Amino acid sequence: MNYIDLRSDTVSHPTPAMREAMAKAAVGDDVYHDDPTVNQLEADAAAMLGKEAAVFVTSGTQGNLCALLAHCQRGESIIVGDTSHIFRYEQGGMAQFGGLIPHTVPVQADATMRISDLENAINPDDEHKPVTRLVALENTHNMAGGLPISADYTAEVGAFARRNGLILHIDGARIFNAAAAYSVAVKELVAAADSVTFCLSKGLCAPVGSVLVGNHDFIRRARRARKALGGSLRQAGVLAAAGLIALHEMTDRLREDHQNAQLLAEGLSEIPAVRIHSQNTNFIFFSLALDTELTFDEFVRALWGEYNIRMSPYAGENGLIRLRTHYWIDQPAIAKILSAVRALLT
Ligand SMILES: *Cc1c(COP(=O)(O)O)cnc(C)c1O
Repeated sequence: MNYIDLRSDTVSHPTPAMREAMAKAAVGDDVYHDDPTVNQLEADAAAMLGKEAAVFVTSGTQGNLCALLAHCQRGESIIVGDTSHIFRYEQGGMAQFGGLIPHTVPVQADATMRISDLENAINPDDEHKPVTRLVALENTHNMAGGLPISADYTAEVGAFARRNGLILHIDGARIFNAAAAYSVAVKELVAAADSVTFCLSKGLCAPVGSVLVGNHDFIRRARRARKALGGSLRQAGVLAAAGLIALHEMTDRLREDHQNAQLLAEGLSEIPAVRIHSQNTNFIFFSLALDTELTFDEFVRALWGEYNIRMSPYAGENGLIRLRTHYWIDQPAIAKILSAVRALLT
């Protein structure tokens, strides 16, 4: 990368090792289950997350949708956080394609939902009401500022789900960031879940792809849903090869991204015109003091125009800038960012 891009971790490019593995990948027709690299990725992902089986999907959105279509019947209700990615940022695919009704529950500042709120969201056995089938968690929680949720809390929601005959799905787009934050094996974090989606892109740097895991019967149904959504791929081994490196070589280093985010937030907090709002895992939110000479837009434009540094206003809230660290934001980059922000604001 010849510029520093902090807009998101989704901007991460594949690593040199990934490009090499992609060029050399053994491939076959994955719709025939013939692609050895995809098969390997699915087997390894299932093993790492402690589930029976896995299916490679093109995106996290597709993984979540395949999961909901495989778990639920049309007309059923699912319990989701009011700020969850599934509810806010997936175009209501559950309703468009699955005829599912989201029942939202408030997400608290610590990224959890209260068990009492979850209890209240279950519809009674009443012919006026849709049948409640599933509850979904998000880890790390995007709109809660990248906060991870713990294995203990997840187990508590798992017990709630079992007690009430519900399925537990985890949107674990950044579940490996959560595992790194808690220093636990990812399979412990998701032990209570029936299914999990996670992204190979974002912090793990693969160019394309997510994986959905669960039991054999569920994955068979999810593969059917993927086909209907147009998501079955042929020689996808070229993508899965990068995914294998994401899984085996990129997950343990996520703690470096978290350390770098902390370093960057600490450096920014020493600049008087900067107000740090939060720093969790690889996320930072900040704003500018009201009396700053540059307007918000001028600041973002000058960083890009004069210093080759990209930041973007956070769509969720006026005046906030969201930064995400990733593999390509190393310590020299952090020094450059801090000196650029200092130069512009002092
Ligand atoms: C990125 C993300 C997804 C999936 O996004 P895609 O862009 O479809 O891969 C799902 N959930 C969360 C929390 C995410 O951050």
